Amino acid sequence: MLIDTHAHLNFEAYDSDLVDVVKRCIDFPMVVINVGSQFETSKKAVELTKHKNFYSSLGLHPIHVFDEDFILEDYQALINDNTSTSLSAHSRVVAIGEAGLDYFHIKEKSIPVDEVIKKQKDIFICHIDLARQNNLPLILHGRNSQELNTCYGDIFGILKTEDYCSGVVHCFGGNIDEARIALNLELYIGFTGIITFPKAEDLREVVKFVPLDRILIETDSPYLAPQAVRGQRNEPIYVEEVAKEVARIKGLEIEEVIDATWKNAKNLFKI
Ligand SMILES: [Zn+2]
Repeated sequence: MLIDTHAHLNFEAYDSDLVDVVKRCIDFPMVVINVGSQFETSKKAVELTKHKNFYSSLGLHPIHVFDEDFILEDYQALINDNTSTSLSAHSRVVAIGEAGLDYFHIKEKSIPVDEVIKKQKDIFICHIDLARQNNLPLILHGRNSQELNTCYGDIFGILKTEDYCSGVVHCFGGNIDEARIALNLELYIGFTGIITFPKAEDLREVVKFVPLDRILIETDSPYLAPQAVRGQRNEPIYVEEVAKEVARIKGLEIEEVIDATWKNAKNLFKI
């Protein structure tokens, strides 16, 4: 089964034709995990689980930690509601995140960098607490800026200190050394359509390095449309392009990649 482990059909970009986009996923057929970035989009991700093969992840993205408070009880309530009303045998909330650190957008707000990092780290730890309470994996977001390139190291350090290493480093953008550390921590590594971009030679080397049984594929829709549809709004069905590229890089059949990444996702998210 094809699975997009990271999409945002809960975002405004799909307001006008969400029904059609959802239908294309269901008809494919494929599995989609919609990921929250704030409380409202987390709520919407949960609402979307009414659709067949749709799951959700809840969290406050590190770029939003000054836009609203992270109220752990409210997120817990979303998880509890979902568990009690879910038609399936288990909750359709399968992860916590996006959570992590973002040093790329750090200067956009007129707040001292130290203060931003401190707040991001505090909120990240709250997500780890929520994940632990619910025995859920984390969907980790990390992004460096040109000057500040320690976000992966900082994320891994916090996971080690907190002794909670269950999750996926989504939209991995690090190097082989950072991938090695993630693998040693038993994390999965998520690749997006970026691996299809002509300039992403270094990242393709990382794909080559990471064993197939630790790879997840994702779109990060509406962003990062793969080369074949580059510049357009992305959508979950295009995760097939990511599978195709992983297969090409590793010299495998696309079916092997689809099967393996589905198995990996089932392992991690208990789908
Ligand atoms: Zn995302």
